[in-house]
Amino acid sequence: MTHTEYQNAVELLKKYSYHYYVLDDPITTDEEYDILYHKVVAYEHENPSHILADSPTQRVGDQPQEKFDKARHLSRMWSLEDLFNRDELDTWVNRITKVYGNVTFGCEPKFDGASLNLIYEGGRLSQAITRGDGVEGEDVTQNAKTIQSIPLSIDYAGRIEIRGEVVIFKDDFEQINEERLKNGESLFANPRNAAAGSLRQLDTRITASRRLVFMPYGIGENSLDIPNLSERMEWVYALGFRRPAMRHVCRSAEEIEGFYQEMLGVRDTFEMLLDGMVIKVDSISVQDELGYTVKNPRWAAAYKFPAIEKLTVLRDVILQVGRSGVVTPVAIVEPVDIEGVTVERSTLHNFDEIQRKDIRIGDKVIILRSGDVIPKIVKVIASERTGSEAVVPRPTHCPVCGSELLDEGALIKCQNLSCEARVVNSIIYFASKQCLNIDGLGDKIVEALHKAGLVHDVSDLFSLTMEQLLSLEGFKEKKSRNLIDAIAAARGCECWRFINALGIEHIGEVASKTLCGAFGTAFDTASREEILALEGFGGEMVESILEFVRVNGEKIETLRSILSPVAPVKIEAAENPFKGKSVVITGTMSVPRDVIKNLLESLGAKVASSVSKKTDYVVYGEDAGSKYDKAVELGVALLTESAFREMCEADASAPLADEATAPQGSGVKPKYSLFD
Ligand code: NAD
Repeated sequence: MTHTEYQNAVELLKKYSYHYYVLDDPITTDEEYDILYHKVVAYEHENPSHILADSPTQRVGDQPQEKFDKARHLSRMWSLEDLFNRDELDTWVNRITKVYGNVTFGCEPKFDGASLNLIYEGGRLSQAITRGDGVEGEDVTQNAKTIQSIPLSIDYAGRIEIRGEVVIFKDDFEQINEERLKNGESLFANPRNAAAGSLRQLDTRITASRRLVFMPYGIGENSLDIPNLSERMEWVYALGFRRPAMRHVCRSAEEIEGFYQEMLGVRDTFEMLLDGMVIKVDSISVQDELGYTVKNPRWAAAYKFPAIEKLTVLRDVILQVGRSGVVTPVAIVEPVDIEGVTVERSTLHNFDEIQRKDIRIGDKVIILRSGDVIPKIVKVIASERTGSEAVVPRPTHCPVCGSELLDEGALIKCQNLSCEARVVNSIIYFASKQCLNIDGLGDKIVEALHKAGLVHDVSDLFSLTMEQLLSLEGFKEKKSRNLIDAIAAARGCECWRFINALGIEHIGEVASKTLCGAFGTAFDTASREEILALEGFGGEMVESILEFVRVNGEKIETLRSILSPVAPVKIEAAENPFKGKSVVITGTMSVPRDVIKNLLESLGAKVASSVSKKTDYVVYGEDAGSKYDKAVELGVALLTESAFREMCEADASAPLADEATAPQGSGVKPKYSLFD
């Protein structure tokens, strides 16, 4: 890197930082930023006399925003040195153990949100300040007071700074963006920006509506007499702050690596985004001796997780016609590797979204792939347009059958019932895993069967003959026999599969199971009132079922007689306090809520989603909100999770205790859960 390139890189990083820290609206991915940052670090290492005073390596974050009152931290706030691989980890650990021998390292998740410093005086929250440039941040005290996981008072009278990360749960983030989409507002690129943007709102009511969560990770100024950070944090949790689901004190780089891999393995099961694991020397006296660089503590580092957001280019937008006729645009992007998976396509939901995000062919875009979620374009880098990008036109004719499309705004539909795409996709859906699970009846084979004129409707599958299959290209004796056997094996299927396979709009696997549980194979005889009384069924779903039954009565009858679906055998639960009761679960539990729901159902309880006079119990966890209030208002019996557990333990079939230490929302029991 030449000096001019270095200067340009510093300018670019400053621009990126401004958009990221000040505007909460990044214009590149963290990965791109980190790569450039490391080039700058390398140059500065070689040329220490050329370091620019405003280089991002010399400062924490960015200036606070003008629109807030500024406030000074009592003691400085810091950034963290990044480690990207095992070699860097070894070097970092060796640098410390070389001098301090047998030190131990506390490891915990690196929460991806916005830093916040809480000052308590005389047992009361007196000020909440964003990190800003580390010395001075924005005073967001009123906003912080709306965050339920920030105690307004604590049982400690001394002056103390408690630091942590303000995050938004992934589910809440999706919900916020859905609402913003409906209101025509611009979307947050990711939960980090949503958390930072929500914390820094001039209107406190907006912050209050965002369900922010505070995860404490450290202590600033204090006069505590506790020798280790891990114990100090235990003290903090005991004051009423949230505890991270995974923590462990490690003794070596090896052990740190093992814990890192374990955390990485369950990364997607956390309710909030994690971008790595933080490693901190546990002894406060060793921390004090190690001290700080201009930017980071020398006693802590962030061991980063692989990036889930990448920069790529939108090459094309193709159209897919689904079984219901809805035309969905699909983005074709320059292939990128995200966590070992090559991503070439991403959903675009609908044309309104394309227009709202102003996505153009040729645009540089940020694509996100997290866990099993379908990759999505989270942001267009409009600032890097060259002028050659092409607007994506709204289609007017079906790309498959050519008939005119019905444009309903968000949805554009092909109305031709015999459009090849609709027919083929409904057969593919019928045979898919979550429906009749017919082995060997994949996309290509369904297309071939349809093209050959052998299958026009799902019921035709059951009259296919060996002779017909053998006439198709690529079908030999064995393959044909296997397919005929697999189709025949669908007879006698579980009845929810039969219901799901019908493809009723708004009725998926869960709803099919509920229908089947309530009405067996005769779901089509149920009345509007009976269906509406089912858990999770709203008006739109009920109307959709009734309309489907009205129009397709004959089709249902034909398929039912071909498939002879089987209704589940109900097992009567033994006598217990929850049998036959209506129970609502609310708030965050120590185990995923589904675990508690399944347990209740196995005890014969009905788990409802809203509280009414008919509710017998409300089981509540942390951050319980309106459902808790409603239960108090109606005088419904309230149970804490532990009270609920005690009642369950009286019942031999309650397997709850085993799972009690799993990370929140994970369903997985980690090997390490608490400090040892
Ligand atoms: P950082 O986010 O990498 O790490 C420091 C911060 O981590 C702390 O201030 C704290 O807020 C947070 N943190 C979360 N959990 C923690 C825990 N358990 N213990 C201690 N701290 C914890 O540092 P940074 O200086 O805020 O940001 C640098 C990073 O931000 C870069 O590496 C880059 O990825 C990203 N960035 C991106 C852009 C962009 O344009 N995309 C621009 C600037 C910075």
